[in-house]
Amino acid sequence: MKKGKKLYEGKAKIIYTTTDKNLVIQYFKDDATAFNNLKKSKIEGKGVLNNRISEHILNNINQIGIKTHLIKRLNMREQLIELCEIFPVEFIVRNIATGSLTKRLGIADGAVLKKPLIEFSYKNDDLGDPVVSKEHILEFGWVDNPETLDAIIYKCFRINDFMQGMFRGVNIKLVDFKLEFGRSTIDRKILLADEISPDTCRLWDVSSEKKLDKDRFRKDLGNIIQAYQEVARR
Ligand code: UDP
Repeated sequence: MKKGKKLYEGKAKIIYTTTDKNLVIQYFKDDATAFNNLKKSKIEGKGVLNNRISEHILNNINQIGIKTHLIKRLNMREQLIELCEIFPVEFIVRNIATGSLTKRLGIADGAVLKKPLIEFSYKNDDLGDPVVSKEHILEFGWVDNPETLDAIIYKCFRINDFMQGMFRGVNIKLVDFKLEFGRSTIDRKILLADEISPDTCRLWDVSSEKKLDKDRFRKDLGNIIQAYQEVARR
């Protein structure tokens, strides 16, 4: 599979074409951004770790019967993936209140939620990814019909159940995370896309509550790469 031209460059990844029009290469950069691009830095080795961690998690999700865009990891920084039309919605699942939820609604940081909570935000950097409702998503056609949206929400909760168990097994609390979905350009099937890594999840050590995720960058806590390595190792 030969790598072609750059198709798209995002904050943490680059997408390249291949000789197959339905397959693309996802390249993991070391760049980190937070607060809608206001904070930027390079974290040496982050891309390599996220590539491996995301490969591991997506392969496991595939095994529980949820299709993902991942075909295979190619090397230290690249994955071969199915090209998708991404729905412009971030699906956020929360088990413990923290981050924007606590700021927006004045909820105590660390409050354990009675059951997993799902939130949606409209992917739009200019607007700062605003929180939206199911009704907004359908009204503005960000997801084409209610059945598809319900199917995606169902997948989000299944993925949460699975990932909570997986992380619990290595003494990590899955606090919250973000998912993105798209339609395969091959058969229009819904696929889990993007990445799942310490960039897109909040992960706390069970005994010490130490943060093992991107909050170390957001909050200047230091030892970012060591935390990502710790997640990869466990
Ligand atoms: N998240 C993400 N990308 C985003 C926004 C959020 O991966 O553009 C993840 C974030 O890492 C956290 C979860 O989604 O695990 C919930 O984030 P929150 O809404 O609390 O946003 P933040 O506090 O990061 O602004």
